[in-house]
Amino acid sequence: MREYRVAVIPGDGIGPEVVAEGLRVLSAAGERFGFRLRCETFPWGCGYYLQTGRVMPADGLETLASFDAIYLGAVGLPGQVPEEIGVRDLVLAIRFGFDQFANVRPVKPLPGAPFPLSHVRPEEVDFVVVREATECLYVGLGGRYRPGDPEFQVVASLRPTFARSRELAYQTGIYSEAGCRRVMEFAFDLARRRAGQKRVASATKTNALGFGMKLWDEVFAEVAAQYPDIEAEWQNVDAMAMRFVTQPERFDVVVAANLFGDILTDLSAALVGGLGFAPGANYSRTGPSMFEPPHGSAPDIAGRGMANPVAAILTGAMMLRHLGEGGAAATVEQAVADLVAEGRVLTPDAGGTATTAEVGAAIVAAL
Ligand code: NAD
Ligand code: MN
Repeated sequence: MREYRVAVIPGDGIGPEVVAEGLRVLSAAGERFGFRLRCETFPWGCGYYLQTGRVMPADGLETLASFDAIYLGAVGLPGQVPEEIGVRDLVLAIRFGFDQFANVRPVKPLPGAPFPLSHVRPEEVDFVVVREATECLYVGLGGRYRPGDPEFQVVASLRPTFARSRELAYQTGIYSEAGCRRVMEFAFDLARRRAGQKRVASATKTNALGFGMKLWDEVFAEVAAQYPDIEAEWQNVDAMAMRFVTQPERFDVVVAANLFGDILTDLSAALVGGLGFAPGANYSRTGPSMFEPPHGSAPDIAGRGMANPVAAILTGAMMLRHLGEGGAAATVEQAVADLVAEGRVLTPDAGGTATTAEVGAAIVAAL
């Protein structure tokens, strides 16, 4: 029997609730398609931080390195653990540590899921956002300065508000030519494989960010020239955000830097019915890839059996495809689509009354 080793990090809040259903569905798919996931669970996250002072052990990345894939729920216990710790020291540490540069977030609304637009039909919308996930403003470069610090004096001369401030903070983005190129090539390769419009749209903002986004644009033009069969266009990210709502059917593949991609993909999650329906994956070429729904730990609904497990289950299907089990992945996706279309077993975010576990069980039963 085919076997795959999966590191499971359920995390905090609704993370463990949705991951449990994801694993039930994946193991049922394995029984049907003749493979087995050998899962090892790691109790890391903010709860672990409260007990140990770390979100994962110092050798956490070494532990994960030998797995075929990582399946992560969500981390975060706002109010108990400072917000800058959980995501940075676990999720970003894994993305950066394994060079998971391509964060892929499909936007394919399922008929039956909440759909906020009336001028297009959900079946007309089908695009993918490829978010660069190792650079930009998320590299953790910056500082805070007070008037006595020499750096403060340098910066204070730029703006009157700087000079009269009690404190300054700056946060810097880094964009590398090779980093831009590889994620853009990933996006064009993806557009080539997809049926349909064969168009890559780059999110930029060079009119205000004349260093980083200028390099981004230059590399995009070079990469686009390598793919004459794919239409290439750029849009300012603010205008693109508007067009996600006004003309979502025009998008095929979108490529964006880390911060823009983060924000655009929560916006695009609204097109698929909310964060409870939006899957995501972080691909590496050199280490394990990580499969995690874009949503967070949702403390407002955690522990009540209300979380929608569809995002985590569709994320699990992306993991199966990556492991080479494309048939099983497609079957899981179809079972989810059928359940949502039927509309009987849905969680409250989708207008239903079912629990997280009831949705998982209904999908298992349909496999
Ligand atoms: P969130 O995604 O947790 O929640 C935003 C809203 O969406 C909430 O109203 C929530 O109830 C709802 N929601 C999210 N997932 C849902 C699901 N599966 N089913 C039904 N409703 C769902 O974002 P937030 O409130 O900004 O962050 C909460 C915590 O999660 C914070 O600590 C944040 O840092 C962390 N976070 C972690 C990740 C990650 O682990 N990758 C990502 C985003 C946020
Ligand atoms: Mn996010």
